[in-house]
Amino acid sequence: MSHSAIDVLQSVFGYSQFRQNQQEIINDLLQGDDCFVLMPTGGGKSLCYQIPALMRNGTAIVVSPLIALMQDQVAELRANGVAAAYYNSSLQAEEANQVLSQLHNGQLKLLYVSPERLLSGSFIQRLQQLPISLFAIDEAHCISQWGHDFRPEYRQIGQLREYFSQVPFIALTATADRATRQDILHRLHFHSPKVHISSFDRPNIRYRVVEKNNPNKQLLAFLQEHRDESGIIYALSRKRVEEVAEKLKQQGINAKAYHAGLPGEIRQNVHQQFIRDEIDVVVATVAFGMGINKPNVRFVVHYDLPKNIEGYYQETGRAGRDGLESEVLLLFGMQDVATAKHFVENISDEEQRRIENFKLSSMVDFAEAQTCRRNVLLNYFAELSDKSCGNCDICLNPPKLFDGKVAAQKALSCVYRLNQGFGSRQVIDVLRGLDNEKIRSQGHDQLSTYGIGKEYSAQEWSSILRQLIHRGYLYQDIQNYSVLKLTERSGEVLKGKVELQLALAQKTATNIANRKSP
Ligand code: ADP
Ligand code: ZN
Repeated sequence: MSHSAIDVLQSVFGYSQFRQNQQEIINDLLQGDDCFVLMPTGGGKSLCYQIPALMRNGTAIVVSPLIALMQDQVAELRANGVAAAYYNSSLQAEEANQVLSQLHNGQLKLLYVSPERLLSGSFIQRLQQLPISLFAIDEAHCISQWGHDFRPEYRQIGQLREYFSQVPFIALTATADRATRQDILHRLHFHSPKVHISSFDRPNIRYRVVEKNNPNKQLLAFLQEHRDESGIIYALSRKRVEEVAEKLKQQGINAKAYHAGLPGEIRQNVHQQFIRDEIDVVVATVAFGMGINKPNVRFVVHYDLPKNIEGYYQETGRAGRDGLESEVLLLFGMQDVATAKHFVENISDEEQRRIENFKLSSMVDFAEAQTCRRNVLLNYFAELSDKSCGNCDICLNPPKLFDGKVAAQKALSCVYRLNQGFGSRQVIDVLRGLDNEKIRSQGHDQLSTYGIGKEYSAQEWSSILRQLIHRGYLYQDIQNYSVLKLTERSGEVLKGKVELQLALAQKTATNIANRKSP
């Protein structure tokens, strides 16, 4: 008896229709193709492999690094009548043996395993003797050092492909910038993968950044605009969380604190009360969020600077799941930047330090951006976009603009002339025609773009380059010392096909952040 994917969706999972991309991904796997899936959290990644797992012969192996999520997923599948189990370090020897015997008897449609177990002892040889329907690598960004949350034990997963050349693979993640994506595909040795990237745009979220000068007052003013609405305020430390929650309570706001230092019972209570709308505001560390599926969160505030855009996007993304208008606010303080820099400088691994540094400076760039904030976010996730959104503080209250077409052409040709092999400092020095050893020894004073940009200061060029990055006309290759490279869209500018309004450089970040928000 053959069922179509939609039958399985309805009869097993009880949903009526597929969401964006799910159907296509499922079809690819059913046809035996490898897939790469980038989909925001809550987008519905699990069904993309669960449904093919039910429709193909054999057992699907799902590799997942998070034991708690594994257990939840298996419990949910079982509740839907699906034969699923997990195999990880939380099992007693006897339970583990039981799972293995179910596996060998063909009694499992899905088996969730931790990377450690997958790669330990003879597990792979064991699997080779069995019909395997597919491999799903969840949280695939963990494979890559460029990712948000690199795990060395994940790296070996790349070997799997060699042992199972006939089995389709699917890698899934909610967070992978361009560099991470390339690295994941490379490491997994995928056969001409089908790449599915869902849009990361959340059009109903309004982005706002203000300079942090009197955070408590600024926060209260913001909350005045969001009376009786449901929201989350993120702060960096437990101490800060407690303090802010206390202040809000004193102001008669129905708020509670949440952080990992509180007893489990209290945390669970806060979570429940928030979900049930019994409290309006949760002040929390980033520990609050995993598994929060509350549709009517109307606002998210970052009281402190997040460490990277991935985190910021995840946290702000908890607003407006119901599709209704929501607002997010970042209080951006120079002191926070210094604190974060200090933290990053103390990372001992050099490579990791470089990556974290890049991520932090991308976050700061976002906060200092002079272009549509949504574009900055989308371009960061390589969803090239240059349409002003009309729903962020920059779009609603734009900075002064100038015709930046020629400046952009100069910058892009200079990047091209430098063989896309140098960072912004060298690009700027060449444009401005500096006479120094680094320029002369490389022969860059001989380039046709040498000295064609003397009309702007180094700071102005720096702002122009940043805007070009934010708008998807350039990108910084962090795998390669942050050299500037052209994108698929650079040609439009070089050929003069687009009009480009750029913002005038501001003297300091403070000026930018000071601009009044709408
Ligand atoms: P992700 O792994 O991408 O964060 P999940 O797979 O956990 O997301 O799915 C998020 C939620 O959306 C789950 O509650 C899931 O059951 C639900 N969901 C997924 N696909 C659909 C669908 N087609 N229709 C309705 N709900 C869905
Ligand atoms: Zn905008």
